Amino acid sequence: MSDFSAEFSGNLRTAGVVGAGGAGFPSYVKAQGKAEIALVNAAECEPLLKKDQKILEHWPEKVFDGLGLLMRAVGASRGMVGIKRKHEKLIPRLKEIAASRRNVSVLEMGDYYPAGDEQCLVYEATGRVVPPGGIPLDVGCVVSNVETLYNAAFAPRPVTETFVTVNGGVKRPATFRVPVGVAWRECVEFCGGFSVKDPAYIDGGPMMGNVRTDFDLPVVKASAGIIVLPKTHQLIAKKTQSRPVFSRIGRSACDQCSYCTELCPRYLLGHNVQPHRVMRSLLFAGGPEHKLHSQYGLLCCECSLCSLYSCPEGLNPREACVAAKADLREAKIGVKNFRLNTASKPEAHPVRDFRKVPVSRLVKRLGLDDYNKDAPWNDGTLSPSRVRIMMAQHIGAPCAPAVKEGQRVEKGAVVGGVPAGALGCPVHASVSGTVGRVNERYVEIIA
Ligand code: SF4
Ligand code: SF4
Repeated sequence: MSDFSAEFSGNLRTAGVVGAGGAGFPSYVKAQGKAEIALVNAAECEPLLKKDQKILEHWPEKVFDGLGLLMRAVGASRGMVGIKRKHEKLIPRLKEIAASRRNVSVLEMGDYYPAGDEQCLVYEATGRVVPPGGIPLDVGCVVSNVETLYNAAFAPRPVTETFVTVNGGVKRPATFRVPVGVAWRECVEFCGGFSVKDPAYIDGGPMMGNVRTDFDLPVVKASAGIIVLPKTHQLIAKKTQSRPVFSRIGRSACDQCSYCTELCPRYLLGHNVQPHRVMRSLLFAGGPEHKLHSQYGLLCCECSLCSLYSCPEGLNPREACVAAKADLREAKIGVKNFRLNTASKPEAHPVRDFRKVPVSRLVKRLGLDDYNKDAPWNDGTLSPSRVRIMMAQHIGAPCAPAVKEGQRVEKGAVVGGVPAGALGCPVHASVSGTVGRVNERYVEIIA
């Protein structure tokens, strides 16, 4: 590792920069690798989320600064910003900035789902297919999210704020900046309150996010936003289907048409993911109480396209794949040792380009037409009276509280740290105040 790489990755760790696209992978690890191409994932393909687009509208230079630092750290000779060409007002400005930076270009992409899947982005940008179970570094690429690079540009300044979109069933959908740890309820109030009765929300995009009903849960560094919907909405019902229910319905109704496989983005990249075969194994498993040991779901990236778009019967192959992966994990079978993992180099399906799912059609299929609002930038300030800083905001070892109840802390102070050598990075106070409750899950700060 070069001196610069060591310094930059150290700054990222000190600042607590993690993947802000939802995954929360500690960014300092990526900065320690070697790559030929650094990619900015600005595709933001989850319907209704707008935060990357708004960051690029307001602070594009900072994102390019972060990209430049990452390129230098990993030794990349090229940088690319992958963004959908529908953002036609934004693209000329991005191209202008790219032209002023060395070896950086803008990649215009179609408006399909999941364009923002990092393996799809790598393929679109380079024609290279990430090997099954691998990561972009395996083909010389490193991929970073827009907000992650924005935060990287300021490192070692601690990450105490994050950008979120609140969309769907609220009176004034918006995209704005909040202190980490604020409750989602306060974000909804910032948007004028609920516009639907008996609301639930999807934390993250409608495709890959999780359904929640507790609006007092806090925003974390990896939060991208929430979609508020009535609890009775078809999407909430589908995403909360229990294993006995999706197994029973799947066993009786799947006609093995294989549309789920034919439209699967990872199958179309040449990976051996075949959700229709996982569905078939529901029959062999005997009943929902039995384990699912189909290995055809192991490389599923859980994009939900099969369950929420492809299946004409409205079945849930994604959940079958998730269940099979969990059962196989118990049996100590994973992507490194499964029998379908051949060493041969995968090749994208010849008709891949014709099987991309347009986001406009996806929104209709999801029943989100009435909730698909612009969520414009709101520059207002949200000043919560208390925040809860979660100790597990990233992939890796959770933080341990580094403060005691009653202690005074200033904004930016470390309130949770990870043991030296463990994967992870510290979490910081997002407001100045007095420490309230402290437990292994969170540190509360009363402003
Ligand atoms: S698309 Fe639906 S019905 Fe067809 S094979 Fe897949 S799960 Fe079965
Ligand atoms: S969720 Fe379905 S479509 Fe998406 S990767 Fe998994 S199997 Fe393929």
